[in-house]
Amino acid sequence: MPIFEFQCDSCKHEFEKLVFAGDTPDITCPECKSREVTKKMSAVSFMGKSMGTCAADAPKGFS
Ligand SMILES: [Zn+2]
Repeated sequence: MPIFEFQCDSCKHEFEKLVFAGDTPDITCPECKSREVTKKMSAVSFMGKSMGTCAADAPKGFS
């Protein structure tokens, strides 16, 4: 699931929020409740995902 970073234009508070694809949620700053927030791209949601599980579990030899 995509997690986007936002920064409040009013108080400069940075926060993360889960946003579903195609969704345009009403994002408000958790600190000052301002709606003047800027969305920043983030790859945080992809961290910790193991891509090499299959290769690591594969046997070294088939003898
Ligand atoms: Zn704010």
